Amino acid sequence: MSFDVIVIGTGAGGGTLARALAPGGLKVLLIERGDFLPREKANWRADEVFRRHRYHNAEPWLDGAGRPFQPVCGYHVGGDTRLYGAAVLRRRESDFDTVRHAGGDTVAWPIRYADLAPYYDVAERWYFAHGLRGEDPTEPEAAAFPGPPFRHDPAIEEVFLRLRDIGLHPFHLPLALHLDEARRERSPCIRCDTCDGFPCLVAGKGDAEMCGVRPALAHPNVTLRTGLKAVRLETSGDGRRVVAVCCEGGGATESFRGRVVVVAAGAINSAALLLASASGRHPRGLANGSDQVGRNYMCHINSVMLGLRPGRANGVAFQKTIGVNDFYRESGDPAFPWPLGHVQLLGKVTGEILKAQRPYLPRTFTDWFSGRSVDWWLTTEDLASPANRITLTPSGQIRVACTPNNLEAHHRLIARWRRVLRRIGFPLVFTQTMGIEAVAHQVGTVRFGRDPATSVLDPHCRAHELDNLFVVDGGFMPSISAVNPSLTIMAQALRAAGHIRARFAEGTWAESRA
Ligand SMILES: Cc1cc2nc3c(=O)[nH]c(=O)nc-3n(C[C@H](O)[C@H](O)[C@H](O)COP(=O)(O)OP(=O)(O)OC[C@H]3O[C@@H](n4cnc5c(N)ncnc54)[C@H](O)[C@@H]3O)c2cc1C
Ligand code: SF4
Repeated sequence: MSFDVIVIGTGAGGGTLARALAPGGLKVLLIERGDFLPREKANWRADEVFRRHRYHNAEPWLDGAGRPFQPVCGYHVGGDTRLYGAAVLRRRESDFDTVRHAGGDTVAWPIRYADLAPYYDVAERWYFAHGLRGEDPTEPEAAAFPGPPFRHDPAIEEVFLRLRDIGLHPFHLPLALHLDEARRERSPCIRCDTCDGFPCLVAGKGDAEMCGVRPALAHPNVTLRTGLKAVRLETSGDGRRVVAVCCEGGGATESFRGRVVVVAAGAINSAALLLASASGRHPRGLANGSDQVGRNYMCHINSVMLGLRPGRANGVAFQKTIGVNDFYRESGDPAFPWPLGHVQLLGKVTGEILKAQRPYLPRTFTDWFSGRSVDWWLTTEDLASPANRITLTPSGQIRVACTPNNLEAHHRLIARWRRVLRRIGFPLVFTQTMGIEAVAHQVGTVRFGRDPATSVLDPHCRAHELDNLFVVDGGFMPSISAVNPSLTIMAQALRAAGHIRARFAEGTWAESRA
């Protein structure tokens, strides 16, 4: 079967690009290895989500030493946005340049903030972003958010004010939720305590199924095939064009032809697919003349920090409403003149979640604890390193070799935030740093750039070596910044879609239907 555009993967990148390409009649095929995530009560059961890993249905991968681990990610229509915490932040303008960190320098992007700004605007609109401009001193220039900020739960409002009192600049964390607080009876989102890491049972989250794939499928020229895994891309004899996408699903194989092929399988799976598509013309893997495919994997250095204030329960349910960037550009300590990172509230760590993750603790204790804690997510930028890379074993299994870097900055962020929490009235603080299985913020494995010797994709995310191959998931990022990646993936997918449309309009690819 033959299509104008084949999109592999339906997450933040693929789902958004599909919606952008849908109007106008291009024949688009979406290939998704997962299925629609079922709407069921288990969506909101911590035991199912965090202990049984009901929706983390990726196959086990190997770490750098060859030990298997279960990645915390899933294959579903909408990709990992079905599980995400819906924090949607723009990169800071300085994140597009080289940034000096304690652990080394970041790689500058081939585009500027201004190139992406109009696409951020659209992504915020499509994904129901709510927030308040002007509170975050590091935030780039932009029009008002499509929706007003969500109000804080009362105990969180108190935290917000105390942070201000000690001279920090907390801001309303931008969130992609389908909620109009003035008309709650008409809004799907109910401000619950099972959002971050859970699928939304009531379709209230601005995820890529609701805001990308479903609107795309409203157009008759768009077809979605689920349960189909793209396993190999075949090229023309000269190796300059992808001519077939070979898939496996339901015990059968199928192949599809497209004028343009867009890979959006997530940074790790996209690299794996290109590596698995090695051929005589592309012996190291497709589009891999630079030997950069799979390298420079980044995922943030992340820690969870629970601040506990014994006493009366705080009544917090909808928790993820504060961000803090006071240590984003520099630590504030002259002895350490480098960035530390970004801090945001986590979705509520309920007693049920604590119990799911620490089954040996009695439920009475986890309920008591979570009723008095306020829970944070601390993020430090990790740096591109060629040795942090995705490879395939001879049998095709994914291997993620990753030695975390820039760790001193993260340790200092932890120490700094612990002091902040104590100052604002949380005498007990508990911290846990994420391990290799926390692949949520995976990026960097097929980075874009101007120089084909050091990058895989051009600034529009087209492969330097193939005329009709694009990659539009998190893989394109040469540096990750310290803010969550989704909104940037969506914005760049929109930018790539605009480029693909323009090239079709010019007549590029007119003759290339294989
Ligand atoms: C628990 C959790 C919380 C998060 N919270 C946030 C947050 O608050 N804010 C934020 O910005 N980000 C958050 N993220 C990260 C965010 O979800 C990802 O950055 C984003 O989804 C990545 O988009 P993507 O297009 O690169 O990949 P994905 O969204 O993962 O999409 C990839 C798609 O490709 C499909 N696929 C993979 N391989 C193949 C193949 N071979 N053939 C066909 N299909 C394939 C997958 O099934 C999937 O649908 C979170 C992630 C998790 C897991
Ligand atoms: S907070 Fe809103 S969007 Fe999130 S899971 Fe609850 S109802 Fe859904």
